[in-house]
Amino acid sequence: MTKIIDVFDKGYVRLVDSMGNDLSIVRAARVSYNSEWREGATSEKSDAKLISYLMKNHHTSPFEHVSLTFEVKAPLFVFRQWHRHRTWSYNEVSARYTRLPEDFYVPGCDKIGVQSTHNKQMREFHDATVDTARARVVLGLIKTQCEDCFISYRALLRAGVPREIARTVLPLATYSKMFATVDLHNLFGFLRLRLHEHAQYEIQVYAQAMLELAKTVAPVACECFVQGL
Ligand SMILES: Cc1cc2nc3c(=O)[nH]c(=O)nc-3n(C[C@H](O)[C@H](O)[C@H](O)COP(=O)(O)OP(=O)(O)OC[C@H]3O[C@@H](n4cnc5c(N)ncnc54)[C@H](O)[C@@H]3O)c2cc1C
Repeated sequence: MTKIIDVFDKGYVRLVDSMGNDLSIVRAARVSYNSEWREGATSEKSDAKLISYLMKNHHTSPFEHVSLTFEVKAPLFVFRQWHRHRTWSYNEVSARYTRLPEDFYVPGCDKIGVQSTHNKQMREFHDATVDTARARVVLGLIKTQCEDCFISYRALLRAGVPREIARTVLPLATYSKMFATVDLHNLFGFLRLRLHEHAQYEIQVYAQAMLELAKTVAPVACECFVQGL
């Protein structure tokens, strides 16, 4: 089973590490009534039933006994949204320590869309917005602007400007990398918000990739989560 999912042109989500699985949730829940210690995989119907019950009734703490660490490569504007989630632990590449490579995100032609008329923060995609001539102009502008930013960045570094100042000219589309650790309960909280159609399309794609990876760790819990969406 693959532990890495490519996202867009240069991004990805990798499942680096995990602790626990569906059985960890069941064990934690069953401690409530002092049940016997159990070894082995979760295969019993009663386990799946219990996990489903916990999910439906918001008995959330047993899900906190499963922990996942992801390595994520995503544009800075995606990280800005991601880092609002305070229950995660993060370590990100530092552009004070190191020079950033020229990696920036350019949306696909069909993902430019138009400003939504019914929701101030959203964009809309429909047939009329997939106009190749318009897309060529828009993507050309984005690409040229990002390339110019990196030209300036390199020029500043060559001129001996410190990395922490040179980086200030880089665009929000610049790819960054981080390690991010979260427990399953808080991952579900993140996914509820970021898989939702009101979330920005780009973070939705990262959220979907994380859900797929989490399914390899706790398939029953993830299935119950998806059913409740
Ligand atoms: C579609 C969308 C649009 C958004 N638009 C904006 C915007 O325009 N501007 C903006 O600034 N933000 C915006 N946000 C960010 C949003 O306001 C939240 O900061 C973000 O979604 C994190 O949610 P959270 O606090 O539930 O997550 P977490 O920080 O992971 O917290 C999880 C849960 O823990 C509890 N918790 C954590 N910390 C505290 C605390 N200090 N006090 C009390 N309870 C706590 C809460 O129950 C919380 O729900 C947007 C988010 C979404 C999904």
